[in-house]
Amino acid sequence: PEEVEEEEGKKKDVLLGGLLAGGFDDSSCASRYQSALLRKVSNHKPSDYLISRLRRYESLHKRCGPRSEAFRSVLEVLRSGRAEEVSECKYVVWISFSGLGNRILTLASAFLYALLTNRVLLVDPGADVPDLFCEPFPGASWFLPSDFPLKDRFHAFDLNHPQSYGNMEKTEAVPPFVYLHLVHNYGDRDKLFFCDEDQAFLKNVPWLILKTDNYFVPSLFLMQSFEEELDRLFPEKETVFHFLGRYLFHPTNSVWGLIRRYYYAYLARADERIGIQVRVFDEGAGPFKHVLDQIMSCVLKENLLPGIHEEGSLSTQSSPAKSKAVLVTSLSSGYFEQLRDIYWENPAVTGEVVSVVQPSHEEFQQTEKQMHNRKAWAEMYLLSLTEVLVTSSWSTFGYVAQGLGGLKPWILYKPENRTTPDPPCERAMSMEPCFHAPPFYDCKAKRGIDTGLLVPHVRHCEDMSWGLKLV
Ligand code: GDP
Repeated sequence: PEEVEEEEGKKKDVLLGGLLAGGFDDSSCASRYQSALLRKVSNHKPSDYLISRLRRYESLHKRCGPRSEAFRSVLEVLRSGRAEEVSECKYVVWISFSGLGNRILTLASAFLYALLTNRVLLVDPGADVPDLFCEPFPGASWFLPSDFPLKDRFHAFDLNHPQSYGNMEKTEAVPPFVYLHLVHNYGDRDKLFFCDEDQAFLKNVPWLILKTDNYFVPSLFLMQSFEEELDRLFPEKETVFHFLGRYLFHPTNSVWGLIRRYYYAYLARADERIGIQVRVFDEGAGPFKHVLDQIMSCVLKENLLPGIHEEGSLSTQSSPAKSKAVLVTSLSSGYFEQLRDIYWENPAVTGEVVSVVQPSHEEFQQTEKQMHNRKAWAEMYLLSLTEVLVTSSWSTFGYVAQGLGGLKPWILYKPENRTTPDPPCERAMSMEPCFHAPPFYDCKAKRGIDTGLLVPHVRHCEDMSWGLKLV
């Protein structure tokens, strides 16, 4: 069966239309070559220009990567404190920070910024990054070496750090590094990162150290200096995370095992797969009645799942019309159990059979446990393999699934005061993630402005009125 799978994989365009570089060793990262077996072919095609820029990036990464001569010489700048020497190699260092969904979005944002500014992206491995993701670039690691001089300071970099962009003195001399604080609590001066003049200053700084918990891509689309390049890279604006996500994030073999086994055991045979991602930000244990009511009301109103005959009525069909598999993900098991019972105890009006499954219920968010994060990543990926997706407002976990899957989800509105919102959900405008903490500033006029009203392709999000997303 392995060989047959491999054959099929080849037919199915394993390199995703040229998005991925060939030449990797298959066994070290099976998902890179096998993902095409589980996924449907994307409805979107990467532009030739994106493909050529990725190949160019990969060769830059090889020349400047952690084992290169160039890397060692630019490291010297940090020791000597003088940044005058010009090198082809400049870096953006991504600090591992926040929940897994957030980190996937920020890594993609950091990579796009690196691509736009001809920098090399280096990744702080944190507690678990190498356990979750394969190396994405051929021939050179993306991980920051463990003896990187500033590593001990990563935890101390925060809003008030004197070397943050918002706090530093901007003199004539080019500093060896700048800390970019793009965390949701950032200040007005940190937000100047999104101004063209400030980018002109940052251009010459050899090391940019970035900490963020936000998908900041939409605001890059509002900057003149990147406009033309972004247009060429992404003629279809809503495909940014879709392509960068599929390019960068390949589950490691241990996570791939979780995904594959689950998919083939519980999802593969159904005629249709529906993902329901439940993330409840309310205090208290749950499950909450208003949330279950909201889920049911959304899936029935939007015809995502069939209605039911009340108990007692007998289906006369001999064999079911069609099967639907519902994949629920949630920290608790209550919603899944109730949904499963509804479709067990009552026949569907359409004669369909509905199976309801949930891979895990981890009860609360954990950070340092290996299996916990593997499961979280596997579940985001499994959700991305469905045909129809329902997500929860505000959740980056859901954004990752929709983007990787190329799916415009139905978004469950955020409940207020423990009541089911009416309408319960809305179809997303695009599959892009929402930037939760965008700047509202006109860099030229030096005053506040609604950045969600400037261009047709950057709008306010469905699930967060002040957020920004690409459409
Ligand atoms: P967000 O908080 O919804 O934006 O998503 P994040 O992924 O950034 O952080 C939530 C974290 O909680 C995840 O990384 C998981 O560790 C955990 N978590 C939340 N929902 C689920 C779920 O449905 N399944 C699993 N396995 N973990 C979850």
